[in-house]
Amino acid sequence: MENLREESPFEGSTFESLFQKGIVCAKKWGRGALGAVVLLAAAAPEIRSLKREHEWRRYTEDALSPHEKAETKALARKIAEIFGDEVNARIEQGDETAYFLRKEKREKARIVGFEESGLSNVARYMLTEDFMFFPKGWIDGEVDKIVYVDREEDLHELQSDGVLLGEVEDQIISSRPAMYIYQNPRYKDYIAKYPYLAVDDNTVFHELGHVNDWLHNEDLTIVERQRLLLETYGRMMSKDCYHDPAGKYYEDFIETVLYRAVSEYWAEICAAYFSDPHSFNAEHPHDFALVDAWVKKKDPSFDIFNKDRGAFDSQTGKLKEVWQKKFGRDPEGVLLKAE
Ligand SMILES: [Zn+2]
Repeated sequence: MENLREESPFEGSTFESLFQKGIVCAKKWGRGALGAVVLLAAAAPEIRSLKREHEWRRYTEDALSPHEKAETKALARKIAEIFGDEVNARIEQGDETAYFLRKEKREKARIVGFEESGLSNVARYMLTEDFMFFPKGWIDGEVDKIVYVDREEDLHELQSDGVLLGEVEDQIISSRPAMYIYQNPRYKDYIAKYPYLAVDDNTVFHELGHVNDWLHNEDLTIVERQRLLLETYGRMMSKDCYHDPAGKYYEDFIETVLYRAVSEYWAEICAAYFSDPHSFNAEHPHDFALVDAWVKKKDPSFDIFNKDRGAFDSQTGKLKEVWQKKFGRDPEGVLLKAE
């Protein structure tokens, strides 16, 4: 991993260079300690295949109604005005990739490195859709793998007080992204004591927001991608926009890389939605409604306020009572059955 990462403040980075290299977002904050760092991947650019593009263009021609075709053109003009035409190309690429991925089997995300790091199975299973902590379709079919890393050498360059750091490796043209969760070695004992916090954490929610944005979400039409981007932009530029209480992470980008700012804004409001839905809804109802609507598009019955959401209590790791009735009392038994 070391050679993948290169610290960059992004200042002076051009939009172009972000796209050519592929964006790796890294966000660290964890509970009680916040900070933000952005890392840039030196991944090789992917070459888009003309044959695939041709097939995808034929598909969109058939899939969109005349009304949607008119709308997609109007929204593309708006996007070009605000962000530049490169963003339209990027959205098209995202839609094309999603089209080909939808033709394949919707694979379960591979959950890697949790056991090796000494975390309980429950942490791993909280990322498994059968246990319904996250909405359906938020993980499976969206991310190729979620890797937990606790090796000190992978964090050597980070000067963070955060408990965890997250990173999404973006290969938008050909495949689903990979997501990495790095454990700060300074908090090894803390995570060992509260292993569920390795999943029930802002960092994880933020990165999952990225894998479900307008570029990566596998389940959107191109018009929906454009709408989601513009709605998020509208929220970011509004007077009552969301601010992370402890750090203005996305705001640093507004003046330099506007598109990056809106991408981070989306990830931040996703994090707020999952980590503290009650106060997020009370203080930022429009942002809450935005995330909730797109979450429910994938999983209409998902209710972030339902206290029985998710089979396991994220603070204690215990199987919840209603789920005990469903699965029996033995969490390990449940886990084994799910294998
Ligand atoms: Zn981010």
